[in-house]
Amino acid sequence: MRNLTRAVKIGSVTIGGNNLIAVQTMASTHTTNIKELIEQIKTFENVGADIELIAKSVDKVRYNPGHLWHHEPKKSWQDKVQFIAETAGKNNCALRVGINCGSVDPSLMEKYNQNPTAAMLESAFSHCSLLDKIGFKQYCVSLKDSDPNKVIKLNIKFAKQRPDIPLHLGVTEAGLPSYGIIKTRIALEQLISRGIGDTIRVSLTLPNDRKYEEIIVGKRILDDIVNKRVISDVRYDRDGLNLISCPSCSRVENEKFIELTGEVERLTGYANDLIKGYDVTIAIMGCRVNGPGETMNADLGLWCGPKNVNLMIGSIRIGAYSYDTILPALKIELDKIISEKKLNAVN
Ligand code: SF4
Repeated sequence: MRNLTRAVKIGSVTIGGNNLIAVQTMASTHTTNIKELIEQIKTFENVGADIELIAKSVDKVRYNPGHLWHHEPKKSWQDKVQFIAETAGKNNCALRVGINCGSVDPSLMEKYNQNPTAAMLESAFSHCSLLDKIGFKQYCVSLKDSDPNKVIKLNIKFAKQRPDIPLHLGVTEAGLPSYGIIKTRIALEQLISRGIGDTIRVSLTLPNDRKYEEIIVGKRILDDIVNKRVISDVRYDRDGLNLISCPSCSRVENEKFIELTGEVERLTGYANDLIKGYDVTIAIMGCRVNGPGETMNADLGLWCGPKNVNLMIGSIRIGAYSYDTILPALKIELDKIISEKKLNAVN
C-alpha cells in the first residue's frame, strides 16, 4: 500500500496522493543554448518523462538547505525559506527541499558530530515544520546519498515520521549505467515496495544525447516492481571497489568527464579482486561547484575542471592533472590505498 501523501501540483503533473509515481530527469545541456535544450527536452518527452528539471524551471524549484546555509550567511535560514516560499506561492510554483549527503547544513553536521544521517533527517524535519508553519503546502522532500543503503534508511525514517509529505526518491551520483542502475534499482525496490515514494529520478553519468535513458530505466524499474520482478531481498553491501560518479548536468565544464568516468572504471577493474572484503570508494564529479564537497567522503576523489582534473584524498588535494595524465596518478594512489588497507587488516 502506498503512503497517502498530500498531493503537490507541478505544472500539469500532480505527485503524491493517489497519483502514479512520476518519472523525472534533469536537463544537462547549457540552459543558454536554447536549441540544444529544446532538443534534449524532446528526447525526454519521446520516452515519456513526466517531469523535466531545468535550471530555470518555473513549475517547481528545488532548494538545498545545505547551500542555503552558505548563501547570505548573516540572514537566518528561516528568513531565506520564508522568502523562497512566498515567491514560489506567488508564482504558483512547487518546491522541493532537496537534501543531499554531500552538502548538509554545516551547523547540523557539527551538532550531530559529523553524522550525516542524523543531520540530514533533522534538516528535512525542520524545513518541513517551517514550511507548514508558513502555510506553504506545495512541496516535496528528497533525501539522497550515493549509497543506496543510506537512501533506504533515510527515506524509511523520514516517511515514518512524516507520512504526509511526498517523497522524491533517487540515488545521487549513482554513476555509469553499468553500476548506477543496480544501485538505483535496489533503493527504489526497497522503498517503493514499502509504499514510500511519489516521484523518482534515476541519476546516471551519461552524455547529453543519451540523458533520456534515465527515463527509460526509471520506467523499467517501476514496471518491474509493479509486476513483482523484484530483487527486494538483495542487500547492497559494499564489498570491494565502489565507484560513484555524478549524473552530469549543465555545470560540467569539460565533456571529457563522461569519457574519463568510463576510463576510470576500466583502469580500476584490476582492484576489484584485490580489495574483496575491504571498502574503497572512488568518486568522480563533473564540476568545481559540487565536486570538492561531493568527493570529500570518498577514499579517492576526482573533480573535473575545464582543463584539469583535481585528485583528492578526502579533503586533501593531491594535485591537478590534465585529462591525459590523471589515470596513472590515480593508479599510484589507489595502489597505496590498497596496500594500506591490507596492512591495517593484518595489524
Ligand atoms: Fe552537475 Fe557538478 Fe553535480 Fe555533476 S557534480 S551533477 S556537474 S553540479
